[in-house]
Amino acid sequence: MIFVNNLIKKGGITMKNFILRLQQARFIKAFRSLQKDVYDNAQAHGFHELENNELHVPTKLALIGSEVSEALEAHRKRKDTEIPHELADIIIRVLDLAESLGIDLATEIIEKHKINVTREFKHGNKRY
Ligand SMILES: [Mg+2]
Repeated sequence: MIFVNNLIKKGGITMKNFILRLQQARFIKAFRSLQKDVYDNAQAHGFHELENNELHVPTKLALIGSEVSEALEAHRKRKDTEIPHELADIIIRVLDLAESLGIDLATEIIEKHKINVTREFKHGNKRY
């Protein structure tokens, strides 16, 4: 804590930024742990047989798309209580793929969010 206080006094960082960085560090640690758990679980259940095959990535991406379709279908059929589970399936499949590719997805999310918050309203003249 003395180090933090000295850092803040010297103008190296504001308290707000210190807390933000601390929260990000905790998020990254927890997210990395979840990403590894998801990957290990999928592997233990036999879903990594294509990992060294060139079809690994397109197969995993298609499966992510299948979960998006399941969420859409749940919404279409007015089964709104199923939507949270399908959204979870999407994230789980994304985490599994990211881990298999050695991607630090937590850091990528934080960095991409920083870019997104600086963009103008509906950037690129997008309709939606
Ligand atoms: Mg599903």
